[in-house]
Amino acid sequence: MPYRWPEDTVFTRLELAVEEPWCRTCGGARTICDHRHHHGFTLHGPVHLVGKLAHCPARACPAGTQTISPEAETTITMPWWVLGWDVVGWLGHRRFAQPWSVQQLRAALADTYHIPLSADAIERYSHRYQQMRAARHRDPQQLAAAYAQVDPVILAIDGLQPEKGPETLYVVRALERKRVWFAEALLSSATTEVQQLLGQARTWAERLGKPVRLWMSDKQDAFVRGIAAEFPGVPHRYGANHFLRDVAKPVWEADSRAKVRMRRTIRGLRTIEREVLAAQRVPAPTLPPTAAPGPSVGLAEEEGRDVGLDYCAATRGILHDEQGGPLPPPG
Ligand SMILES: [Zn+2]
Repeated sequence: MPYRWPEDTVFTRLELAVEEPWCRTCGGARTICDHRHHHGFTLHGPVHLVGKLAHCPARACPAGTQTISPEAETTITMPWWVLGWDVVGWLGHRRFAQPWSVQQLRAALADTYHIPLSADAIERYSHRYQQMRAARHRDPQQLAAAYAQVDPVILAIDGLQPEKGPETLYVVRALERKRVWFAEALLSSATTEVQQLLGQARTWAERLGKPVRLWMSDKQDAFVRGIAAEFPGVPHRYGANHFLRDVAKPVWEADSRAKVRMRRTIRGLRTIEREVLAAQRVPAPTLPPTAAPGPSVGLAEEEGRDVGLDYCAATRGILHDEQGGPLPPPG
């Protein structure tokens, strides 16, 4: 859906001509044959881009049917985009590096830059930012520059399941530069499928001209076999997380058994809570002023009930605590 600009929007007009005024085929002068209009936001305000499209007017020239666009247009924004590259960069960086919520971005764009955008549009442009970033990360020149000082590389592979089901997203990362090299979703975790990804990693390393010093992954069979096949002689280490989890397992099991025993011994929390809550609901009897023992007794009783409820909650928390990793175990 095209963006609806308010009537009173003030645009800065930018006229863009083709960079080469001469025809590449016949050398004749190109002439302007059409204008393309594009309205968009930049961090410096709304712009109206006027692209002067050109062609070669020579009848006999084979390039005569081609229409040439000014390249400068795509350095400001992309066709059909309402945001300039500067806004997309500003937005994407805050969305993913900080990270800001969509609502925060929306408010900041409106307040600071007077760019009113819907939450949907911010999501859409965040997604485009991610695509551009991924493309840049895969660009061979960018990659070569990033790894100029690194030699050799340490690689890691892991599979994640974002949703329940057979699909697993495999991610290959290089640890020194903390870069994701590539990610592929596979429907099967069979050795042959995973080995293809490892082959792809080998191609990347070869293209960079970097030897692989070490592989890191968990001890999944497909990784163990695939790495041995694609990277013979390269050491393969397994992640400490799985190791620690295995080491912590007996402790975790002992803790779990202890909690079962404790739950058997400690009973009646619910009954205590119910009694306290029932007592709270009954209003304190109003006594004649002469017989009043003073307000402190009622207050102390109320505090006592609160403490009782807190004790119940804390005890229940201890009995049901399952949170924590191998290093801070539960219980
Ligand atoms: Zn020509």
